[in-house]
Amino acid sequence: MPIFWECDRCTACCRWPGQVSLTPPEISRIAAHLNLPEPEFIARFTRLNSTRTGLALIDQSDGSCIFLDGSNCRIQPVKPQQCRDFPNLWNFPGFNEVCQARPRELSPDDWRARIRASTGREVAPP
Ligand code: SF4
Ligand code: SF4
Repeated sequence: MPIFWECDRCTACCRWPGQVSLTPPEISRIAAHLNLPEPEFIARFTRLNSTRTGLALIDQSDGSCIFLDGSNCRIQPVKPQQCRDFPNLWNFPGFNEVCQARPRELSPDDWRARIRASTGREVAPP
């Protein structure tokens, strides 16, 4: 039975080092959500990513994501796919030592439905 990692909203993944990459459609969606022209959104909230191949969100002075506000994401309805996909569709060895998501054993159909609801993706169960 596939395991679905149920987010506990601990916000650790919004605070640890790394980068949140942005696709062009994500830039458009987030700028619209914030009622900003895209050039202004890009200038205020993004930087070149580490491979210099695109843009990523900037951090706050403590290293947390620029859109983390307490325990909330200020762009939750339009947050980047990279954020939506963690930890079920990507993670790293030992991730669950810092991520508080709870493992739930689900039927393949339920797993697929939970993935669809949380990431917007259609993915075959592992
Ligand atoms: S965009 Fe939202 S969910 Fe993604 S890292 Fe920033 S605060 Fe967290
Ligand atoms: S670290 Fe894990 S439990 Fe915490 S907000 Fe991110 S996905 Fe959810």
